[in-house]
Amino acid sequence: MESFSSLVKAYLYEKTYEELGIGERERVKWKPCCARAFLRAVFLFLSVEENGITRITTKNQDLLEITAYLLLREYDPSLSLSVQKIPRKGSALVLPQNTRRQLLSDTEEMEYCSRCRILLVRGAFLSCGTVTDPKKGYHASFRVPDPRAREELREILLSFGLETKEQNLKGDTSLYLKESGKIEDLLSLTGAERFSLQMMDQKIEKSIRGDINRRQNFDDANLKKTVNGAQSVISAIRYLEENDLLETLPEPLQSAAKLRMSYPEISLKELCQRSEEELTKSGLNHRLQKLVHYASKAKREGEKK
Ligand SMILES: [Zn+2]
Repeated sequence: MESFSSLVKAYLYEKTYEELGIGERERVKWKPCCARAFLRAVFLFLSVEENGITRITTKNQDLLEITAYLLLREYDPSLSLSVQKIPRKGSALVLPQNTRRQLLSDTEEMEYCSRCRILLVRGAFLSCGTVTDPKKGYHASFRVPDPRAREELREILLSFGLETKEQNLKGDTSLYLKESGKIEDLLSLTGAERFSLQMMDQKIEKSIRGDINRRQNFDDANLKKTVNGAQSVISAIRYLEENDLLETLPEPLQSAAKLRMSYPEISLKELCQRSEEELTKSGLNHRLQKLVHYASKAKREGEKK
């Protein structure tokens, strides 16, 4: 089964294709600045430069396709690029000379429009981010080993009110978010609003479940009360019987006592249904409470003697 993270990413790739009009008629909604901001994210968080060669390695073909498209269209149409299969690691986009260094320095001082910053976060998420299935827990993280790149991402996220924490696992440093509301904000920010809504729905579902559980517990408590209530009535009736007082009481109370003693464990409502007489719950309860009252009165008087 596909992970939650890969579903979010697949959706974001689809959205990016659509926004850029890749594969269909040209329809560029991204401004050149925004395209460069996205490229900056991919280069900052995913590319590696070795011996003058820049490689962007990922298992995700979509990311390579979008990156290649943006590079040729918005950065340098004459750039020669190739794709290399890398066993177990997916594919690498191989770029000549010092493309990484060049692109990062070209975009370092650029002025971001408001959408640039959003697309930078989307680019970062697609390059190095993961988000846990909210059914299993709340966790979103960006793996960024390079401290300068990490600081840049931390600041951008913070500018959207997303305060990340740092965590180091086996030498890999990540920025992460754990609060569900913040993860929802992050998903919305990258453009995956529908997943953010899905998370909110799940939270609502959870809280409704909680309510149902609470109600269940409440019903259990009521049941206990019913049983306890019935027991105090039963011991009162026993007392009245043992002291030959029951037969001295009015007929309706005697029949109520008989009814209760025949069915000691059922609720008042069920007891009414079993009565030959037409009885309401409160009417029957009134009679049973009268029995309790007579019994305790008799007990008190018996103790005085
Ligand atoms: Zn822009």
